[in-house]
Amino acid sequence: MRSGWVERDAQALVAAGAKSGLDRELALRIYTTRLLGSDPKLVLYGGGNTSLKTRMRDLLGAEVDVLRIKASGADMATIEAEGFPAVRLAALRGLRAIDALDDEALLGVERASLIDPAAPNPSVEIMLHAFLPHKFVDHTHARAVLSVIDQPNGEERCAELYAGRLAFVPYRMPGFGLAKQAIEIFERTKPGDGLVLGKHGIVTFGDDAREAYERMIEMVTLAEDLVERNRKSVAVAGPRRDIAPVVAVAPIVRGACSQKDAKIEGAWRRLVLEFRTGEAVLNFFDAADLHRLSQAGVATPDHTIRAKNWPLLLPYPQFSELDAFAGTARAAASKFAAHYHGYFERHNQRVGGGKNELDPLPRVALVPGLGLFGLGRSKRAAIIAADIAEEWIAVVAGAERVGRFESISEAEMFDCEYWPLEQAKLGRKQEPPLAGQIAAITGAAGAIGAATAKAFAAAGAEVALLDIDLAAASEQAKMVGATALPVQCDVTDPASVRAAFATIASAFGGVDIVVLNAGAAWQGRIGEVDEAILRQSFELNFYGHQRVAQAAIRIMLAQATGGCLLFNVSKQAVNPGPNFGPYGVPKAALLALMRQYALDYGADGIRANAVNADRIRSGLLTAEMIAARAKARGVSEQDYMSGNLLGREVTADDVAQAFLHQALALKTTADVTTVDGGNIAAAMR
Ligand SMILES: [Zn+2]
Repeated sequence: MRSGWVERDAQALVAAGAKSGLDRELALRIYTTRLLGSDPKLVLYGGGNTSLKTRMRDLLGAEVDVLRIKASGADMATIEAEGFPAVRLAALRGLRAIDALDDEALLGVERASLIDPAAPNPSVEIMLHAFLPHKFVDHTHARAVLSVIDQPNGEERCAELYAGRLAFVPYRMPGFGLAKQAIEIFERTKPGDGLVLGKHGIVTFGDDAREAYERMIEMVTLAEDLVERNRKSVAVAGPRRDIAPVVAVAPIVRGACSQKDAKIEGAWRRLVLEFRTGEAVLNFFDAADLHRLSQAGVATPDHTIRAKNWPLLLPYPQFSELDAFAGTARAAASKFAAHYHGYFERHNQRVGGGKNELDPLPRVALVPGLGLFGLGRSKRAAIIAADIAEEWIAVVAGAERVGRFESISEAEMFDCEYWPLEQAKLGRKQEPPLAGQIAAITGAAGAIGAATAKAFAAAGAEVALLDIDLAAASEQAKMVGATALPVQCDVTDPASVRAAFATIASAFGGVDIVVLNAGAAWQGRIGEVDEAILRQSFELNFYGHQRVAQAAIRIMLAQATGGCLLFNVSKQAVNPGPNFGPYGVPKAALLALMRQYALDYGADGIRANAVNADRIRSGLLTAEMIAARAKARGVSEQDYMSGNLLGREVTADDVAQAFLHQALALKTTADVTTVDGGNIAAAMR
């Protein structure tokens, strides 16, 4: 590992900081923190922290010694000055005299000692930084260091490798107790470069930013070299025979790792997936004693809150035996959940009760021969879990080269997983109603499709926007959110529909809600219209939806957690307009199709509903058409658009809300919801 320090960049940041009143030391603190944070071999998702001891004026103008410490959960790669709350150092140092301090009391002292009372909470490792005398202190969970110290004899390994330059602090849960223990060992052994925190990470220090940072790089490089020297020749994986593709495996894994809601009949707790594979992952599966390692535990304590302590280990997915794979996967996932529940019960009792059990579902699933899945309540959480799983594999593979991987104990993992300060990193927001669900919308670049995508994303679903026009779908996806997935899909082409659903299953793991919305209008007097036009309309407005519904049903059945098909049927299905036969007749067939799906798949928990919308500004009813029709009827455009019983114009957002309502109404199937402002001729009977 090379130092990323570039003098020119450091000076540029100092110069830029000076303009906004940042002093040189803080600017350099920001600079090296970003260097550390941008290397995943050092730091992942808030798993590290840095500090600076300096002087500044408090709100009353008095100059005081402060600790500028990284805020809890702040991203080191992009940190700014606000990410380093300033805490009065004297108040923190005063705590040395106390034997033990609980988290709440400690947080109280910290908040009471902030220079800016509105600053974010400091890192949970604040006291370790406060007690050490050095101006700059850097702490990471560096991969190679973990490979060396996650061992039964980690202390000896550390002594051999660092020869007293780093003192060894035996594992202890992060917090006040660890900080006290670390400073006592530091004062007794006087290491020159820093500390190793057993089964947890590394600390380096220095008088200036560069010294502390480059000591970190040097110490990590020593560990990297040791791991590299022990590289064993790995048997190259043989051909993977008869292996099922990710698109077939993902929905099975996703279904297996979902949980029926005990309180609401028909509701499921579902997770979104992120797939990863590659040489490192596949070789690990082939070479390692996978069963032992899958039970071995975390690489560093804070991984537990995002990836749980153990991955779910699944069998090799043989394509010709997918049903057997599904059965084994479900059994393995429910065993995992039962094991997690037992782990919670045991340790909750040990600590005197009072903890709330988190869901018992896996956050990482290993599929030998194929790759791994990160699982989360959102795509973002799944990506984080997958990143941590890959990091875990790298640490464990390295540790097995050096010796034998060993994690902290089950009790120690529980104490970290259920430590309120760790859980606080995840936030305490109420989850949105569609969290964990995946929605696909056809015709998503159009007015109703785009409004529906936005409404579903706002309700917490991950959204795939399918449209024949990929550029337009991409535009809309950008407005929906960072994880929204644009997919090119021509619903009149079976291969295109198959490919689109394969893309969705690969990207998210499956699908729960499909809004069948693509469409176009053809006109003609039914007795004289060219049959080719009628067939063209049926191809899009009927067969297109049938194809999409079939592709969705295949995935929903593999998941075995129900699902929901929502058809945009239009009022034409029940209230045909003159010369609109080529559009209205396939729409009437579509209404029958919706009912057939409701009938045939109700027993599988799959619902089918329809929305009959009318007179919405969209690609089917353009501004020119509105102007022409209003003129033909001798009314204003406004009156034309609100020509209904309520006298209100109906918008694409109104239709989107109707679809959302149907997605949430778990006891409703074969329903038609009319969104037209009131039109008795189009009312259902
Ligand atoms: Zn740490």
